[in-house]
Amino acid sequence: MPPSNSRPAISRPPHGTRTLETEVLVIGGGVTGTGIMRDLALRGIFSILVDKRDLNAGASGGNHGLLHSGGRYAANDTETARECMAEGDILKRIAPECIDECGGLFVAVEGDDPDFAESFAGYCSAAGIPSEALSPAEARELEPVLSDKTFAAYTVPDATIDPFRITLEQVNQASDVAGSRFLPHTEVIGFAMRDGEILGASCRDNRTGEMFAIRARQYVNAAGAWAMEIARLAGCDSVRLIYAKGTLVISNSRMATRVINRLRLPGDGDILVPGGTVSMLGTTSDRVTELENLRPTVDEVDRNLAEGIAMVPGLATARFIRAFSGVRPLLMAADSGADGRKASRGFSLFDHKDEGLSNFATVTGGKLTTFRLMAEKTCDLVASRLGNTSPCRTAEERLPVGDALRWTTPGFAARYWYSRKDPTDAILCECEMVPKSAVDSIVDEAPGAEDEMTLRAIAVRSRVGKGSCQGSFCGIRVSSYLYDRGIYRSPAGLGHMRDFFAERYKGILPVLWGKELPQAELAETLHCGLMGLDLAEPATVADDETDGGAA
Ligand SMILES: Cc1cc2nc3c(=O)[nH]c(=O)nc-3n(C[C@H](O)[C@H](O)[C@H](O)COP(=O)(O)OP(=O)(O)OC[C@H]3O[C@@H](n4cnc5c(N)ncnc54)[C@H](O)[C@@H]3O)c2cc1C
Repeated sequence: MPPSNSRPAISRPPHGTRTLETEVLVIGGGVTGTGIMRDLALRGIFSILVDKRDLNAGASGGNHGLLHSGGRYAANDTETARECMAEGDILKRIAPECIDECGGLFVAVEGDDPDFAESFAGYCSAAGIPSEALSPAEARELEPVLSDKTFAAYTVPDATIDPFRITLEQVNQASDVAGSRFLPHTEVIGFAMRDGEILGASCRDNRTGEMFAIRARQYVNAAGAWAMEIARLAGCDSVRLIYAKGTLVISNSRMATRVINRLRLPGDGDILVPGGTVSMLGTTSDRVTELENLRPTVDEVDRNLAEGIAMVPGLATARFIRAFSGVRPLLMAADSGADGRKASRGFSLFDHKDEGLSNFATVTGGKLTTFRLMAEKTCDLVASRLGNTSPCRTAEERLPVGDALRWTTPGFAARYWYSRKDPTDAILCECEMVPKSAVDSIVDEAPGAEDEMTLRAIAVRSRVGKGSCQGSFCGIRVSSYLYDRGIYRSPAGLGHMRDFFAERYKGILPVLWGKELPQAELAETLHCGLMGLDLAEPATVADDETDGGAA
């Protein structure tokens, strides 16, 4: 063990800057960080959660939204498969409103390995996953979009989960139960350390540039793919990750009732996931070394489609409204494979004791499906370090269903608006039928709501901009409404609009064919020709997060 005082004090808050105090500082506002915040709160522990952008700006906002039964990992990672099955059951119990128990199929098509297909039931039963073999005709009766070259099929208890809603619910409960706080746009840029302890985290407000410090008794690094960087800021080299970028495409309609998985070892374009009213096809897997400025490419879209069409031929003529990317944080191992496909989907908790630190922990790797377990293990460690003996309650305690948390659910806004029959409640987003009252509720009450919310922040907390027009019209309407309400008061509102459209365009660009092309030209005419938004100043600093992928 190196002497603790050899650790460099990487950055100290300049003298005189303000300091916030908390019991635990959690770094990273994805599903894991918010899960930790909730778990701590249910043990009576107050925390501050920070994210350098906003909730779900990382992989948690850029994934398939598949609540894995574990079938995908049954053949080569039984432990992860078991974890997925057990955690999926828990999440279905504690957050049913976030989950569509649509079920799943694994299907093999001509050219796939018949021996693998035959062994699948055995792999599933070894991992405790219930599966049932279907004839190709039975499978096609359930899902008519399946290829007529399907030769084997099994049912599994796959489901889908709304990662935006569950994240919001967790922040909401933590703030209700323990008064915990979420600070968006707050980036940890260094730590001050002494004698084997972190004394404080140096933070920057990415909107204003203000520097300030957060002092905590315990520090938790839940920064997903950025966890290795954060650990290094604390002088810890034990966190070794590889980054696997994945890209998905979204169709403008739901193509199947169930999740459809290709019955083979994981590869490109082999899962089609229904997300409420749309379907998501993915994913690619490519090793990358950079985490910023990610964008989906035409090549990745082509690879997904080439593979997906073999399973669901209708993908060849479907309309795609957008592509998006995220980066998986995978734990480095000698046999991870060039594209990261062979790396474990398990997670690791680092207590950093061997590296001389007593109040710092890192949790990374894992899946959206297993985030609750990741949070539980992390909070067991943190609670014991704080001398708190309360047991974990996240597997039993139901997540609350708050008014401002419902707007991410597909179809909810339309039903709500119709049932209220209020002629003054104008629809601002026509594709997803989001009315003015929804925007009011988000701006006034949604977790992490700010005085001047960006359009992206509203989109993360609703379905604004997620429909076929991809924000072209509703971006203008919502901004105008926010100017009418006096929330936007300066040209910065135009900057929010510009940033929002630029972010959506990143995802539209690689699917510009067929009906998307005239749609994009119309948007360009409106945004640049009519409103001159190409000339507006950007309003936000480095707002280059994933573009809110999961439907
Ligand atoms: C393409 C793709 C598809 C996937 N599909 C599925 C799926 O269908 N089902 C499933 O179970 N799993 C899936 N996953 C995996 C899943 O998305 C991740 O395991 C999970 O979202 C990780 O969550 P996290 O909270 O640990 O990290 P993240 O969601 O990445 O959160 C980390 C956060 O840390 C913040 N941060 C970084 N640096 C700092 C800093 N210095 N200061 C403050 N904040 C910082 C980032 O802004 C980010 O918001 C998929 C992943 C990808 C990439």
